[in-house]
Formats: sequence, structure tokens, C-alpha cells
Amino acid sequence: MLTNRTTQSGAVRRRKAGELQIQIDDVYACLGQCAGCVLAPEERKAQSADMTEETLALAVGKLREHAAAVGPLNRINVTFGIADHLLIGVDYLEKLHALGSSIVEAGRPADRAHSAVFFTTSLVGKPASVIAMLREVRARMRGSVPLIPLVVLDGRLIKSMKFGPMWREMVLVAKELFGKVDLSTNLSGDAVSCMSPQELASFATRNGFDEVTVNWAPTIRNAASTLDDVAAVTTWLLEFDRLAERKHAITTSFRPVIARTIDAIMCRDGSAPSLIGAVEGIVPETIRKSIEIDHLGFVLPKLEAIGDITHADRHGLKALGHLSDGTVEEIIERAMPRVLSKIIGIHAQGACSTCRHTAVCAGTGFHVATHVARKTGRSQAFDEEACPHVAYALIDAIASQMRAQDEAMDRGPLFRATA
Ligand code: SF4
Repeated sequence: MLTNRTTQSGAVRRRKAGELQIQIDDVYACLGQCAGCVLAPEERKAQSADMTEETLALAVGKLREHAAAVGPLNRINVTFGIADHLLIGVDYLEKLHALGSSIVEAGRPADRAHSAVFFTTSLVGKPASVIAMLREVRARMRGSVPLIPLVVLDGRLIKSMKFGPMWREMVLVAKELFGKVDLSTNLSGDAVSCMSPQELASFATRNGFDEVTVNWAPTIRNAASTLDDVAAVTTWLLEFDRLAERKHAITTSFRPVIARTIDAIMCRDGSAPSLIGAVEGIVPETIRKSIEIDHLGFVLPKLEAIGDITHADRHGLKALGHLSDGTVEEIIERAMPRVLSKIIGIHAQGACSTCRHTAVCAGTGFHVATHVARKTGRSQAFDEEACPHVAYALIDAIASQMRAQDEAMDRGPLFRATA
């Protein structure tokens, strides 16, 4: 149900996020081979943490300050990403939980039960040793901030006769130990061809996952895997969304992002939402409450489209700044005019300039995929007049459904803007 559409005529309603989301990219080591991974194969070969102790200490100190400064907050989530933290060891995970907890404590969130520290893992390895490590990590947890594994599923494993059942056992043990395990998967042409939406939805439902984060994050390096078969990826996402809507046991992360953005820019007088108004009204608040720190200490905006996506070299975009440049707030404020004008510039070109969903699209992180598609020449693979990737079809489907619901509830003309 749609709520809170109290926008003034012609204005974009600013989203005051009560949640602070932080991601620290300290580990790139991974034995997995997802074609849609944002990491290059040579980055995944690392055998130790990629962030030095000094940079980690600097990041945690600055993020504590930031968490304390941006309140009042309802929830704080700190995720240590991107790859497999179990490869680095139990001592390291114990340290990360303590550091992440200190950021949560500094922000004094009202909803402590839903504020947590997450760590990514692909659970690739010998099941007996992975399970022993998970048990040891759980046994060493201190304090009251939950620690939750964020498990990345390589789609090929869903059907693997040999590894599938073993992987499933590891996931179930992790769930039993930590109370909750989130599931995520990286989409690519390869992934959608070996894992159907039905298979992923049934796997998630059968194993008790309530949220599945589907990541689709084109980079300059993975563009051939993520952008060459956009039609197949789009069909897959639409079908997965339809299943998630029907099976209320699972939700996707992209529907709320698109729905929230549509909801935020609707105008009571039915006028078309402006691109500039949408970007200026939504993006600054998003970035203040959702940031990522890369392994070198660069501060990145953590944007959302199909999962998280950011501005970084790997997407052909500039970071906000470096942790050594000042407080996180100062770094964000200094970079904000440049970031907003970059997003508006991307949407002012090609098919985006005349697209009826451009304002909604610009309030999310889809412009990163658009930028990569253009930079790698992949937007030319499709009709130049058409959307360069999955955004139009998804926004259109979700906007139509919201409009139909709205009309059914006789709420008036709020959807004319995207009609
Ligand atoms: S939906 Fe597609 S064409 Fe429209 S603004 Fe977004 S990326 Fe551009």
C-alpha cells in the first residue's frame, strides 16, 4: 500500500532516511567465479584482507563520528564486504564484529533489534571446515549487536548435484547459528541462463530466507557479462519480481527502491516530475545516509538500483573523496554539486533525455549502469532510442501496478506524472 504522498504541488518530497547504511570494502578474496561480480578475477585471488589495519582504523573512527553526527537514527547497518571474509579467518571476523558494533553504538539507533553488523561470505570451501569456522565465530561474539552473514549465491550451484546439497547444509547451519542469513546473488547473462527466477525463489523459500538481494552491477570490466544480454536479464528480473509479489514469503530489494522513488517524486497537481528536482530532492539525503568505503579509504556513495551500486573507478566514475580529506560529512558536502551534476548530465543524454521515467530513474542508482553501457559501447547494442538496460521495463511495470492500486483505492491523480 502506498502512503505518505503529501508532496506539495510541483515539489519533490525529501526522504529523511531513518536508517544509516555503511559498507566497508575490506576483503576482495573469493574462490567463487560469479560472472556478474564487481571484482576482477585478479582481485579475487587475494589471500588476505585488502584494507590495511591503518585504513580500517581510520575508516571506523570517521564512521563513528559520522554515525553520531547524522542522527537521530532508527537503524544502523554496517556491512563488511565485498567477498569472502571466512577466507581471512575467525580472529579477523571477531575484530570486525567489535569494530562494526562500535559504529552502531556511536549512532545510538532507536531500533537496536534491527541494527546489525553484516559480513559477506560465499561459503565456498570444505563444508566441515566452513561450518567449524562459523561455529567459532559465533562462540566468540561479544556485546549485543547482532552479526549476520550475507551469503552470496553463485547461481550455478543451485543445480550442482555434487555441491548444491553441501552448500545448502552450510547455509542452514549459518542460519541456525546467527538467527538470520541474508542471501544475495550477482546477475549476469551467465547467471540468468543457469538459474531461473523460479529456482531462486523456491530455494530462498525452502531455506527460510526472507530477503533476496539480486545484484546487477555493470562495471567496465564485467560489461560483457552484465550488459550483453540485457533482454534476458530484464525478463528474468520481471519474472522474479512477479514471483516475489505472489509468494509473500520473499521480497526483493529493487521493488522497494523503485516504489519509494516513484512515491517520493509524485506531484499532487499531476505535473511531470522534473529531472533536476528529483535528483536534488532525493540524492543528497540518500548519500548522507548510505556510504561505502573502499579498501584504499575512498568514500563512495552507496546507491541502489538492482542491489547496491556506486561511483568508483570500476564503474568509470569518481569517488566522493578520501577519508584523509576531512570528516565524512565534509567530504560528502564538497563532492555533492559534482555528483548531482554528473547524474543529471548522464540523464540529459541519449534515450534518457526523452524518457518518461527519467526523473524516477535518476533518483536511484541506475545512471551508473547507463554510464558503463555508454562507456563500453554496450548501449549501441540496442535500439539507440531505447533504454540502454533493464531500468525502463522495471520502472514501467512497477509504476503501472502502483497506478492501478492507486486507482483502485480512488486516491486521485497522483500517478499522472509517470503515466
Ligand atoms: S529508464 Fe532507461 S532510458 Fe529511461 S532514464 Fe533510465 S536508463 Fe535512461
